[in-house]
Amino acid sequence: MISDDERGTDRQRGTDGRRVVLVHAHPDDESITTGGTIARYAAEGAHVTVVTCTLGEEGEIIPPALSELGAWAGDQLGGYRSAELAAAGRALGWTAHRYLGGMGRWRDSGMAGTPSAEHPRAFVGGDLDQQAEQLTAILDELRPQVVVTYDSHGGYGHPDHIRAHEITMAAAPRAASVQRVFHTVSSRRAVTDGLAALRAAGDVGFRVPADDELPTTPDEAVTTVVDIRAHRWRKFAALAAHETQVDVGPDCFALSNGIAQPVPGAEHFVLAHGPAEGAETDLFGGLR
Ligand SMILES: [Zn+2]
Repeated sequence: MISDDERGTDRQRGTDGRRVVLVHAHPDDESITTGGTIARYAAEGAHVTVVTCTLGEEGEIIPPALSELGAWAGDQLGGYRSAELAAAGRALGWTAHRYLGGMGRWRDSGMAGTPSAEHPRAFVGGDLDQQAEQLTAILDELRPQVVVTYDSHGGYGHPDHIRAHEITMAAAPRAASVQRVFHTVSSRRAVTDGLAALRAAGDVGFRVPADDELPTTPDEAVTTVVDIRAHRWRKFAALAAHETQVDVGPDCFALSNGIAQPVPGAEHFVLAHGPAEGAETDLFGGLR
């Protein structure tokens, strides 16, 4: 339940008129892919809302002491991750947060081909139109000019990320306020440069992968580069808040696979809908 106090806070903060909603599949995705962008626009005074579609119940668990929370044992990971997400939100300073359809409505479907997709509340098994309507209701409430989600491949192919893309592309045209839709992507050049820096740094505590091991988008396709250097420390704090999912190292982080991922000084986007003029370095650039 959102209390009246929180609604009051929502109204008072984010008063510069710019409003953005970022749609993510699981707790941690918001910080990994768009943490710097969230922190930057929130710090500047924009109204920034993260929508999370599932509780991430099927995630791997890094700390051994927490492994019994998993879907294979206590099945309490979703509730635990909601607290991690709230801590990440405090680190990033976002204005508001919503769970699609209410907290716990849709369950993490797991990686492609796993039985968790058969769960009756699995996000990928739900009715797409119903989910798009749930998102449209959030957009109608918050009236963002800008909406952000993944590309049609979901960034790296996770079925829940693809579904988040699908419902966002269905909902955004139904919301009168939305002027631009962006897809969050990883810039090939930024990742390649970041990995080279990690190799030069020596032991970072994780395995530094080959350039082509991480999913990236060619820079010719990137339309929008958001400088996050002044807010990168908040992104690291938010990543650290997701302790079941993320290990933070020097200038990088790793998921349970132990593969180092760099944290570039910018986040990259592809404009999927709306006017391109002014969007080169600012999600809101050139909008009324
Ligand atoms: Zn995810």
